[in-house]
Amino acid sequence: MPELPEVETVMRGLSPVMIGQKIARADINRGDLRWPLPVNMAEGLTGARILQLRRRSKYILADLSTAQTLIIHLGMSGRFVISGVQIGGFHHEHKAPKAHDHIVLHMANGARVTFNDPRRFGHMDLTPTDQLDRHPLLVSLGPEPLGNAFDGPYLIARLKNRRSPIKSALLDQRIVAGLGNIYVCEVLHRAAISPIRQSGNISARRVEKIVPIVRDVLHEAIEAGGSSLRDFRQTDGALGYFQHRFRVYAQEGQPCPRTDCSGTVKRIVQSGRSSFYCAKCQR
Ligand code: ZN
Repeated sequence: MPELPEVETVMRGLSPVMIGQKIARADINRGDLRWPLPVNMAEGLTGARILQLRRRSKYILADLSTAQTLIIHLGMSGRFVISGVQIGGFHHEHKAPKAHDHIVLHMANGARVTFNDPRRFGHMDLTPTDQLDRHPLLVSLGPEPLGNAFDGPYLIARLKNRRSPIKSALLDQRIVAGLGNIYVCEVLHRAAISPIRQSGNISARRVEKIVPIVRDVLHEAIEAGGSSLRDFRQTDGALGYFQHRFRVYAQEGQPCPRTDCSGTVKRIVQSGRSSFYCAKCQR
C-alpha cells in the first residue's frame, strides 16, 4: 500500500505530463471506485486545464482552471500509466485498454494518463478548490509531517497526557497526516522508542527528537522513490514504486540494524497492525 513517500513519487511523475495541460476528454469507465464517483465527473474534467498538482497526506490534488480540485487516492493497488509522451528519452506508445483501466484522461497535447486499479480501493472526487479544507476526506487531517506546523512544541502538546501507545498516536491522522504503518515503525526504531510506550510518558526531550527523524525518514524514502521512478519510466510508462528495503519493517527475526545493539527485530500486533521493533534498544 502506497504511503506518503510513494504518493509524492507518483505526483512528481505525473507533474510533467499534467501541469499546465488541458484535459481534452475524460473516460470514466465505471460509476465507482471505493466509493461512487461524482456523477458529472467526465463533464467536470473535460476542457479543464490543470493548474498545479500538490499532495495533502496521501492524496494527490489537481487544481483545475474550473475552480475545482480533483482529489485522487491510490488506495491499495491504484497506479497511473502515462503514454503518448516523451519523457527522459523514452517515448511510451498508447497501449490497448486493459482490464481495470477505470479512468483515462486524454490530454490536449496527445498524452494519456490512465488510472488502473484492480482492487478498487482507490478513489477520486471533484470539489470546489476553495472548499477543499472542508472536504470529508481532508477536514480532520492534522498537519503535514514535512510542513512547518509539525514541530517539537506541537507534538509535545499533542502527546501530553495521552494514554495510547506512541505507535497509535503517530498513526492518528488527526495528530499528523500521512504517516502509515511502515514509516512509523522505521521512525520509532531510529528514535529508539518502543512502539508500546504510552505517549504521555515519553519525555518532552525525546518527543521533540521524533520530529526531525520523521522528516529524515520520509525525505530519504522520497529520494529513493525518485530514482525508482526514473527506472520505471524506462519500462512501461507506469508510475510505480519499488518496495524499499526497511530497517525494521517486515524484518522479523533479523538482527537489529543498530550497530551497537545485539537485539533482534520482533513483530507484535497493536490495534490489529504489525509493529516491528527491537525490544533491546527501543525503550
Ligand atoms: Zn536494537
